[in-house]
Amino acid sequence: MSETKQNRYRAVQFLTSAHRLDQAPPDTGYEVAFAGRSNAGKSSALNAITESKGLARTSKTPGRTQLINFFTVDEQRRLVDLPGYGYAKVPVEVKRHWQATLERYLAERQCLRGLVLLMDVRHPLKDFDRMMLQWCAAAHMPVHVLLTKCDKLNRGPASAVLQQVRREMKREFANATVQLFSALKGQGVEEARAQLDRWFQFEGAAPAEEPSGG
Ligand code: GDP
Repeated sequence: MSETKQNRYRAVQFLTSAHRLDQAPPDTGYEVAFAGRSNAGKSSALNAITESKGLARTSKTPGRTQLINFFTVDEQRRLVDLPGYGYAKVPVEVKRHWQATLERYLAERQCLRGLVLLMDVRHPLKDFDRMMLQWCAAAHMPVHVLLTKCDKLNRGPASAVLQQVRREMKREFANATVQLFSALKGQGVEEARAQLDRWFQFEGAAPAEEPSGG
């Protein structure tokens, strides 16, 4: 009975980019979206989860960085890479367009099951993160937070951040779960995939549990 757990996200394929929502694929099936400030570790996390470099590389191709990038998991399911920004020097109008598009995507996309929000464990809950959380709360959209690069902190301090962020989320964003993640060490990758499995309603997806924080 020793089956190796198959990674369902390994076969992801680039589908399309959308600059505006009306360029998105038809609103059917299931989507799970990834967002984070630039440098939060989103590309590395997507690489670790899908065990491929192609996905994140596609999203970092010049010209694609300001677009919503869609990837197929299978016919019914898509991973969505949302543009991040932080210290990116972009004109105000571009930023405004991103914000409006992201907010509308979170509010209106029927097939969207959840948002994975990535934050550097050393810099959690910045303005961008709070903005995303507020939009998700308004849209009743579940959120799963990855506290990334947790290998940069020792176990004790990392776990303290995990507890602190969980406490804060519980107060303000009850729909959110939080876990530690390290693309470098592979920590938390299975836990993140298990959350995707639940949102995508894969048969045999592990039932929800309090994230262990590993
Ligand atoms: P993105 O801009 O959010 O896509 O972030 P990247 O994935 O490109 O990562 C930004 C920087 O953080 C890069 O220098 C990565 O090497 C580094 N990084 C990402 N994930 C990890 C991690 O798990 N551990 C460590 N130590 N560094 C990481």
